[in-house]
Amino acid sequence: MPETWPEGVVARYLTKAAEILGEDITVDVAEGDGYATATCKGCGSDHRNERVYANVTVLPWAIDHAATCRAMPRPTP
Ligand SMILES: [Zn+2]
Repeated sequence: MPETWPEGVVARYLTKAAEILGEDITVDVAEGDGYATATCKGCGSDHRNERVYANVTVLPWAIDHAATCRAMPRPTP
């Protein structure tokens, strides 16, 4: 079950849609280049800030967004 996380990803949160569908739709928090970036794989929204603020703004954004996002990613052929 544990898949390999993309490089730089330090935290992942299942979205509301993932909870409903039982699929792996996540908000990924990645760090690199002095920045932390949270990206929703469902709707594409993101939030970015300097890495030192990751725990203050990026992680809370990821957690809040994941809890409410019901977007489904466009299927890839
Ligand atoms: Zn989203």
